[in-house]
Amino acid sequence: MTRLIFLGPPGAGKGTQAKVLADWLGIPHISTGDILRDSVANQTPLGQKAKDYMDRGDLVPDSLILDMIRDRLSQTDTAQGWILDGFPRNVAQARQLDELLEAMGQTSDRIINLKVDDAVLIERLLARGQDQGRSDDTREVIERRLQVFHENTAPIVDFYGDRPALISIDGDAPMAEVTQRLKDAIAP
Ligand code: ADP
Repeated sequence: MTRLIFLGPPGAGKGTQAKVLADWLGIPHISTGDILRDSVANQTPLGQKAKDYMDRGDLVPDSLILDMIRDRLSQTDTAQGWILDGFPRNVAQARQLDELLEAMGQTSDRIINLKVDDAVLIERLLARGQDQGRSDDTREVIERRLQVFHENTAPIVDFYGDRPALISIDGDAPMAEVTQRLKDAIAP
C-alpha cells in the first residue's frame, strides 16, 4: 500500500516519473492533466468546461477538479494505493484533499516536491511542444503556467510545512537518475 502526492512545476517530469513509479509499485497513476485532456478530446461536459482554462494555462476551477478526484479515488483500483500527479495545485485544493482523505480514512505516505529551475523547465516544455504537439506548450502559455505555478502551487509546500511525509527531490538530472532518487526516497 503506497499513496503518493507529486508536487512540482510544469515540465519537472512529474508525469514521466509518476508513471514509472506507478508501474513499479503496481498502483494507478492519477494525472489530473491526463484526465482533463481525455475529457477535452472526448468533448465530455467536463472537457467543454475545462478547455478554455487549459488553453490559457490557467487553473481549471477547483470544484470541477475536486469532483473528478473524488470520483477517481472511489474506483476500486485504488485499493492498493495511488499516485496523484497534478493535484493538489493550490492551497484550497490541498485543504480539500486533506478533507477528502480524512473522510475516506486515508493518509498520504509521501508528498514529493520535485524541484527544477524555471530556465530548465522552459527549455524542456518548448522541446515537448515541438515533439508532442501539446497545444499548451507554446512559449506564451508556458510562461503563464509557470506564473500560475509560482503563485498558486508553490505555496502548497509551505502549507504541508513540517509534515514528515514531505520530501524534496532535485529533478534536474537525467531521467533514470531522478527515478532512482525517487525510489530511494519512497522505499519502505
Ligand atoms: P503541466 O503540469 O505540464 O502544466 P498538466 O498536464 O498537469 O500539465 O496540466 C495541464 C493543465 O490542466 C493545467 O495547465 C491546468 O489548466 C489543468 N489542470 C491540471 N490539473 C489541475 C488542477 N489540479 N487544478 C486546476 N487545473 C488543473
